[in-house]
Amino acid sequence: MEDIKSMTLEELTAWLKERGEPAFRAKQIFRWLYRGVRSFDEMTDLSKALREKLKETCALTPPQVARKQVSAQDGTIKYLWELADGNCVESVLMRYQHGNTVCISCQVGCRMGCAFCASTLAGKVRDLTPAEMVDQVLFTQLDSGAEVSNIVLMGIGEPLDNFDTVMKFLALVNSPEGLNIGMRHISLSTCGLVEQIDKLAQYRLQLTLSVSLHAPDDETRSKIMPVNRGIGVERLMESCRRYFQTTGRRISYEYAMIDGVNDADWQADLLARRLRGAPAHVNLIPLNEVEESPLRPSRRVAAFQRRLEGHGITVTVRRKLGGDIDASCGQLRRKAMKSENG
Ligand code: SAH
Repeated sequence: MEDIKSMTLEELTAWLKERGEPAFRAKQIFRWLYRGVRSFDEMTDLSKALREKLKETCALTPPQVARKQVSAQDGTIKYLWELADGNCVESVLMRYQHGNTVCISCQVGCRMGCAFCASTLAGKVRDLTPAEMVDQVLFTQLDSGAEVSNIVLMGIGEPLDNFDTVMKFLALVNSPEGLNIGMRHISLSTCGLVEQIDKLAQYRLQLTLSVSLHAPDDETRSKIMPVNRGIGVERLMESCRRYFQTTGRRISYEYAMIDGVNDADWQADLLARRLRGAPAHVNLIPLNEVEESPLRPSRRVAAFQRRLEGHGITVTVRRKLGGDIDASCGQLRRKAMKSENG
């Protein structure tokens, strides 16, 4: 079956043309898809014959809400979506003063193996399709009634490990006929796959690249992030500097503060040294505890922040939203998996 929701308007136009349909049909269909229709029968301005033809050749695979949790504290909503094949992924809607942000997943599970992360505990099951990524934004919007102005690729999965899909997704949400969300309103977070960072740089997108650094020294980083073992912090930082040179976009570094692991003064000093040579922004994340992991949140967040600021680094501490609803890092999917398996 053809996955027409993963097609750009140009691709859909060409695809329909091959089947003898005029270009304006593509626009009509595209518009319906982005209104979140669940079946071709809802496309009421198409002829019955065309709708039947589409039904025979194309699959629409809108996700179902498997679980939904609304934070009583701040209105954050967490969705567990059930995909057409029964797999589940999460999205989170966060409400900020400057607009609504949706955090979405790009893979079912993850193969990167970070020690502190719930999403990777059972490995990667499969990549998502562009349509499955778009649908998380679209159906979060439709279900919540909140208009989404920002997207962060910080849910389950490693975006640069599903590169082509993510690029297609970006084109779709960026397109005026699609979700029409500007690149500057999109953040992409990576565990630091250097070759893919170099590849992404070539597209010169105006999005914000976030790099999950979490440690400035190889010993610590390799321990908590296996992906570092074949790369090393120095090579990662080199590719980050190249990224800045090519795109002119300042990189944001994520740093989850873990008690006794990456929160020492010498690590703040080394981090500051590593970041020299290109503008940077450090986002300190209070660690979310994962049941299966012995890692605990650091008690030195403020001291670490002051130490970095002393070196002239711009630092923010991530505000915790949805603390009452497991609104982080693959925890809802994990819980659902556990309860299914008894
Ligand atoms: N794979 C991508 C994006 C997904 S995770 C990446 O690695 O960047 C989004 C962010 O949450 C990453 O910085 C990740 O390291 C961080 N994260 C994962 N588990 C966490 C936890 N338990 N506490 C705090 N941050 C966590």
